[in-house]
Amino acid sequence: MALGHIAELQQTLSAYLKPADLARIDDAFHLAEEAHRGQFRKSGEPYISHPIAVAEILSQWQLDAQTLIAALLHDVVEDTHVSKEEITVKFGKSVADLVDGVSKLDRLEFQTQQDAQAENFRKMLLAMARDVRVILIKLADRLHNMRTLEAVPAEKRRRIARETIDIYGPIANRLGLDSIYRELQELSFQFLFPLRFAVLSKALKVARGSRRELIARVLKAIKKQLDEAGVKQQVVGREKHLYSIYEKMVEKRLTFSQVLDIYGFRVIVDDIPACYLALGALHALYKPVPGKFKDYIAIPKSNGYQSLHTTLIGPFGTPIEIQIRTWGMHRIAESGVASHWLYKDGKEKFSDVQQRTTKWLQSLLELQNMSGDSAEFLEHVKVDLFPDDVYVFTPAGKILALPRGATPVDFAYAVHTDIGNRCVAAKINGDLVPLRTELKNGDRVEIVTASHAHPNPIWLSYLKTGKARSQIRHFLKTVHNEESSELGERLLSQALRALESTVDALTPEQWERVVRDSGARSRAEILADIGLGKRHAAIVARQLISGDETRHDTKPQGSIVVRGSEGMAVQFAKCCHPIPGDSIIGFIKKGQGLVVHIHDCPTAFRARSDPERWLDLEWGTDTEKMFQVSLRVTAANQRGVLAKVASAIADAGSNIDNLSLDEERGMYSTMHFALEVTTRDHLAQVMRRVRAIPAVVRITRVKE
Ligand code: MN
Repeated sequence: MALGHIAELQQTLSAYLKPADLARIDDAFHLAEEAHRGQFRKSGEPYISHPIAVAEILSQWQLDAQTLIAALLHDVVEDTHVSKEEITVKFGKSVADLVDGVSKLDRLEFQTQQDAQAENFRKMLLAMARDVRVILIKLADRLHNMRTLEAVPAEKRRRIARETIDIYGPIANRLGLDSIYRELQELSFQFLFPLRFAVLSKALKVARGSRRELIARVLKAIKKQLDEAGVKQQVVGREKHLYSIYEKMVEKRLTFSQVLDIYGFRVIVDDIPACYLALGALHALYKPVPGKFKDYIAIPKSNGYQSLHTTLIGPFGTPIEIQIRTWGMHRIAESGVASHWLYKDGKEKFSDVQQRTTKWLQSLLELQNMSGDSAEFLEHVKVDLFPDDVYVFTPAGKILALPRGATPVDFAYAVHTDIGNRCVAAKINGDLVPLRTELKNGDRVEIVTASHAHPNPIWLSYLKTGKARSQIRHFLKTVHNEESSELGERLLSQALRALESTVDALTPEQWERVVRDSGARSRAEILADIGLGKRHAAIVARQLISGDETRHDTKPQGSIVVRGSEGMAVQFAKCCHPIPGDSIIGFIKKGQGLVVHIHDCPTAFRARSDPERWLDLEWGTDTEKMFQVSLRVTAANQRGVLAKVASAIADAGSNIDNLSLDEERGMYSTMHFALEVTTRDHLAQVMRRVRAIPAVVRITRVKE
């Protein structure tokens, strides 16, 4: 049985392929046949009958040898012991990539039934295919599975039919593959609604019998009219498809006979002038219905379809729909994108064919721009030629479209701003991955959140979506502003103290005047500016109290209390790492807020030239945070000394943030720790514990 089919296939192929290609296709057949031996279809046929049938469908579009080889092998990687590597070795990388592409599509399952999701799923398939030929093989595969769906259990039958009508039918339509589109619809309709299908097809049969005479009469009249006008042509009556009748009945609320009483004819001619000649002749034969004429030759449809459409009033007032097109347009209408893969001659290289396809797609795009609805079309035909989107799944199975290069953080913000702001980790297909990982088509992405988490400014360096960027900037700015105005208020109340006043004692009038005079938008802005070092607290205080900047005799201001919980408005200098208990000073750095140093920090000392900006600070009694501090430990080179030091640190209730080791020199080695402690006392405890280790010879806190 299978062997009979392969003989037929070979015959079809020998009409347009070279002997060398035929031999390779034969090799592929033998590999597939051997690999699938012992496997059977639900229908009971040997499994190999399926890949042969798929290749046969593709041979009707005269596709190239690589596509046919891949068609014969399309199920071996998923279902047999044959590997992608083996295919690469025997048939080359292009064939192996095609097989791999089809296998990947097979693993995707369409789950939800929402229209918007179906649209995204179609886009995902097209984007994943990376090569139009993968889609063509997949469509041929689906067509044969639909043709043999009878053998499959009812439940699965309905699911496959639903997927076909939602996903694969529209893809075939967009690629301009009209005949396969119609057949997929017809078969899906039959398996989805068996009863309606049976009733309608019976009614159609009866109706056709009674209308045959009228059709013959109109056909004869059309031919005669065109012959007399000197138009060389072929005219055929068009059978209405059951599914399109059904659709029209549902959509336009028409009865069966109302839909069916429209007759369809197609006129195919040699060239474009003949199309318009034929149109004129037919409008002279029967009266045209006003408003029904459409010129898809001048303005083609989005999938490249071209024809003239018109509706005439025939004998007894019957509407007659006519399509007029050239043979070239007819070929594209029937097999769409596939017609551009038609095998030309043996010398044409793959890259040439691909270039031709690219050109064709590009010309379609230009036509699209002319006719106006380019955006949608672009989405559908780009297939690897314009690979700028990735499609990924949410844990609930929803599909999101993101720009290529997008990361889990982009994904998180696309789902919801809150999820983005609280994102701490991500899983792709169940595995934890770094947040900067690039997402791939078909990935299932899950975001791990924590209620107190904040967006990290570092994310801005790798994000791809504008939404995520602006949300993070917005978040940081809001938080920063809040924290800065809090600090500003404290700086101001310190400055007011010197003028023997307090923030609470200020009147709204005093504030209004200062806001107006300073050109700020609000009181909050002035406070934030003080916190950010853009305005001087002492000057603002004087403006508030006296309305001018003239110097008063001021009392000492006293110091500002630092708690460590101020957030981004207060930073602890990275040179000296101050901790509670250290005596500290601060410097307002423009645009950044207050930077805290230890009072004798050498770095701070070098920058003390502007004493106006230096502030006396003191620690609050309620500091809760852990502060970072640096320790240098020198110890004898003994086994396990590092472990001993580390556990002493942990025993003292401290964490190690970072550790680096100097190169070993002689008997001693030096370790640098970044630790977290709560206070100076805490640090002293840690150092005592470490010093107690016999191997440790020196321990120092590093302040620069
Ligand atoms: Mn298959």
